[in-house]
Amino acid sequence: MSHTSYVGDPKIMFAKFSSVCPKCNKKINKSDRIVYFPNGKKAFCYSCGEQDYLDFVSSAIDEDSYNRGYC
Ligand SMILES: [Zn+2]
Repeated sequence: MSHTSYVGDPKIMFAKFSSVCPKCNKKINKSDRIVYFPNGKKAFCYSCGEQDYLDFVSSAIDEDSYNRGYC
């Protein structure tokens, strides 16, 4: 069972270049693990992005089961 994937899903990936986390202003080094949100084109450090990512994943799953029950 897998959840529907939307364009704009946040994903966990490795930084391709160094930047600064927009939430905590911590430096993100190249090849650090980050959480990337294509919607806002934002890359958060893993500790900032993790919870948002998990929230997204669980809400995507909720949405899927809702849709299945509804149709
Ligand atoms: Zn951060």
